[in-house]
Amino acid sequence: MAETNTIGFQDLRSIIPGGRVLEITTTTDCIVRCSYCPQDKFISRQRAVSHMKHLCLEDFKQCVARVPTAVDISFAGYSEPWLNPDCTEMVEHAYMRGHGVRIFTTLVGMSRCDLGRLRALRFRAFVVHVFDDGVYMNSRLVSGKYLDLIRQLVNSDIPSIRFVVLGELHPDIAGIIPAAALYHTLPLSSRGGSVDPKIVEPRKSVVGALACAEERQYRNVLLPNGDVTLCCMDFERRHVLGNLLHDEYNDLFEGPVFRDIQDRMQGMDGFLLCRMCEFAEPKNVSAAAAHHFWKIAVQ
Ligand code: SF4
Repeated sequence: MAETNTIGFQDLRSIIPGGRVLEITTTTDCIVRCSYCPQDKFISRQRAVSHMKHLCLEDFKQCVARVPTAVDISFAGYSEPWLNPDCTEMVEHAYMRGHGVRIFTTLVGMSRCDLGRLRALRFRAFVVHVFDDGVYMNSRLVSGKYLDLIRQLVNSDIPSIRFVVLGELHPDIAGIIPAAALYHTLPLSSRGGSVDPKIVEPRKSVVGALACAEERQYRNVLLPNGDVTLCCMDFERRHVLGNLLHDEYNDLFEGPVFRDIQDRMQGMDGFLLCRMCEFAEPKNVSAAAAHHFWKIAVQ
């Protein structure tokens, strides 16, 4: 196996730029099914409100038209973005509107043609989540076509590209990716307690006032029916801020759901996903102590 950079939760954060983001969940039909992803919970909660499998290109354009260009568009969300056949066109559309664009992909569903089109653009981040040795991911998806795409990406001139593996690298990929570009970590987030506790144990609930370490309450997730959830942890749709097919972007942060989140972050009663989230930092202690608690929570 190639020598790799082993990183923890904080280091993983450091390769992702800050700022406001709208993540795009392009489909409810993810076949990748990593065992540390609470996909089943997302699908059952989403299908209870909408049977839209893919985000339609026209709906995507309508939603993004309401988003200021200072907000980055991130193709990530709760499923593999390229399992929607219009994903590359969505990327090009967001880019042409002037948004910073971020990509987080396993490459499943991406074609050589898609990659050729993507190489013409410049990204704020381009992270490839590569397959492990079968402990957490389905190795049957590691095909000749997939390995060709990895080779093309390694030889591409995409400056922001990073490869990340959770667990041990799949043996067919070892040797293709240069050590300096490969980050090696473990499943570290319980997604607010949604992941199987045998894989990632949930943290101890944070009591009282708290803050999100990265202000991810402003990194929201667009779903295929236009609904927008709080953040990348909210697979179970616990906080739906609004719907960009009907609401303006700023309305998401002025409505009762977001106001309740803010109040609960200040310590008010009521359900708050953040209490179980690895990004949450207690606020009623010194910054040094908060950092200490946070490190314990993610160990
Ligand atoms: S603390 Fe966690 S759940 Fe709350 S906004 Fe931040 S990332 Fe999302």
